[in-house]
Amino acid sequence: MKIADKKTTAVSLVEASLKRIEETKDYNIFTFIDKDQALKKAQAIDDKIKKGENPGKLAGVPYALKANFLSKNRPADASAKILTEFISPVDSTTAEKLDKEGAICVGCVNLDAFAHGSSTENSYYGPTKNAKDKTRVAGGSSGGSAVAVALDCVEFATGSDTGGSIRQPASFNGVFGIKPTYGAISRYGVVAMASSLDVIGFFAKSAADLDLLMSVTAGKDEKDQTTLPDFYGSNDTELKKKSVGFIKEFMASEALDPEIKSALETKLAKLKDKGYKIVELSMPTLEYALAAYYIIQPAEVASNLSRYDGIRYGFRTENLKADDKTPLDLLFENTRSEGFMPENKRRIMIGNFVLSSGFYDAYFLKAAKARTLIIDEFNKAFADVDAILTPVSPNPAFKLGEKISDPVAMYLEDVMSVPVNLAGLPAVAFPVGENKAGLPLGLQIIGPRRSDKNLLKLTEELA
Ligand code: GLN
Repeated sequence: MKIADKKTTAVSLVEASLKRIEETKDYNIFTFIDKDQALKKAQAIDDKIKKGENPGKLAGVPYALKANFLSKNRPADASAKILTEFISPVDSTTAEKLDKEGAICVGCVNLDAFAHGSSTENSYYGPTKNAKDKTRVAGGSSGGSAVAVALDCVEFATGSDTGGSIRQPASFNGVFGIKPTYGAISRYGVVAMASSLDVIGFFAKSAADLDLLMSVTAGKDEKDQTTLPDFYGSNDTELKKKSVGFIKEFMASEALDPEIKSALETKLAKLKDKGYKIVELSMPTLEYALAAYYIIQPAEVASNLSRYDGIRYGFRTENLKADDKTPLDLLFENTRSEGFMPENKRRIMIGNFVLSSGFYDAYFLKAAKARTLIIDEFNKAFADVDAILTPVSPNPAFKLGEKISDPVAMYLEDVMSVPVNLAGLPAVAFPVGENKAGLPLGLQIIGPRRSDKNLLKLTEELA
């Protein structure tokens, strides 16, 4: 990802990226293309190199921002109608750090509105299509990011992962994706989904590229009090136990696609050949992870989305007349009714229900307790193993439209990805070839908190 060797120029890299974006238009990847700014920045980088100045570790590398990342003077609408017309006044910490290292943002890419979804079909702009089969979904919510990298529009893309939004689209499109430890990278300037679960991460074409991106973006940020003290790259990177686990209950799942299962078994055999001890883990509490996630996450979504009132951000209704209501009530009600997608509304309703005084104990409190048990179960597992290898999703990319009218079927997509978010753990999704139909398959390697760099090293051994 470097151009300082002078074999190419930043301008030619950006031009190639813009050309590729044009060629892949029918995949519906980009929601905004920033041609002029990108070319201007590329010229500035080339000038720096000519003058012998340090252009940065990512000099001239074109990248895409998931459209829920704020970046000054660019639209940051999270693919949601209610945020259209919102132009960001500030830079997210991630965009700022990438820019400082010379990376060049060529535009913003599609997602499920507010990152609610597993297919990018909930976007106000319509779905992004799968990189390998246009009749299938890109995965979600970061579908645009994954396809932009898979189809070579950009070298890397940003993503956010609340319950699998980086890992699942990475695996559906055959690219690498990292969901870092909770708090590794600042969330400042990223549209909040569920704050105790949200993490910032990346899509790229190799574990080495993800490592470089982590090294320039991870670290304490005073604008996000949940960021951890700097740890990336400074911890001991040895895998001390030389032992990797797999989860018995996931392998026995009837929903698990046989080709994904056999890809996982092949990788375990490879690790065994390399001298790793392979451990079968029983983790029965994970059965409750999906239910806990779909209580905790909507509760936090309902709170985070309460700020969209038609006054402070983006879209505002024009429908302010009714005999029985005041214009102010109508402003709130109609802006929210017209501006949110059905899936956003579903989560607001579920979230407010599970938090309501009569049901808090029965739902939210129980889910919070289940979350603690899940964390304990992972801690116990990591007493025996360095890392755990699992599928990302039980199946490869499904057909467009197949699950969109059945929210529960769509939620089941996340059954193997959400436990990682509930426990705040890092995980790396990596490609393991294609199935007989030519669809990419992916696995994830999960580690204890702060083992992000170890996981990337292990991914290199595995991929
Ligand atoms: N698919 C999950 C959901 O719909 C995760 C989304 C995400 O990680 N942003 O909530």
